[in-house]
Amino acid sequence: MRKTSLQLLFLFAVVSAIISGCNKDEPLVILPLEQDVQLGAQVHEEILNMQDSLPILSEQQYPQVYQYLRNIMSNIVASEDILYEEEFGYDKIYIIKNDNELNAFATPGGYVYVYTGLLKYLDSEDHLAGVLGHEIAHADRRHTVRAIQRDLGVQLLLDVALGQNQGAVVQVVRALGDLQYSRSNEEEADTYSVRYLSNPQSPYECDGAAGFFEKLQNEGSGGGTPEFLSTHPNPGNRIEAIQAEAATQGCDTAPCTTCSYEQFKIMLP
Ligand SMILES: [Zn+2]
Repeated sequence: MRKTSLQLLFLFAVVSAIISGCNKDEPLVILPLEQDVQLGAQVHEEILNMQDSLPILSEQQYPQVYQYLRNIMSNIVASEDILYEEEFGYDKIYIIKNDNELNAFATPGGYVYVYTGLLKYLDSEDHLAGVLGHEIAHADRRHTVRAIQRDLGVQLLLDVALGQNQGAVVQVVRALGDLQYSRSNEEEADTYSVRYLSNPQSPYECDGAAGFFEKLQNEGSGGGTPEFLSTHPNPGNRIEAIQAEAATQGCDTAPCTTCSYEQFKIMLP
């Protein structure tokens, strides 16, 4: 990076830090959008180095499983409400082999990770699409980068952006695991999940995300750890709010008729 860009980035960061000090819940995003993409790539590289704790299911061994998930992703991001499809691509989805975790997370730049525990727990592609829509919203609305900045501070993100501190990336990965979105970000991610799933290419019930929360509420977590709820705290009346958004949108709440989720689950190791 040239010196002028560095100075500009630093100035941008300082100004943002001052402004964000006024509102602790929603600090301003400090980095330009390209840095979300770079940060996502750096985090992914680090996750590949952490295969003991975050083992990624091999795409070479399970190409059909990955193809199935990519198809869901492309059905979701066909939505006109997606801001950064061109920049983020939304073709980077990874399965973490851990049957005990009911969770999924997104990095800045739109990398999405989903645990086998969640994939096996869910009963329908509609509900999975709802959860993935929620994760995509966190990346696309830049909630994730804001939450990392809130938890780790401006300086650390600058270090990562400037490639000055490899240890900083490890801290970002750890922060992603413990990160807690704000209530307003949670509400927004739920809302956008409905909007994304109401696009004409989507075969899903647009309130699919509610299905996951209903199952958790009615049946419990089936022995897994519902980690999703600690990283994605319930903003209150979550199921009702999702269904109310579907009613506002007037979108289709009938389940997908062409999906075959049970056959997908059989393919999982
Ligand atoms: Zn969330």
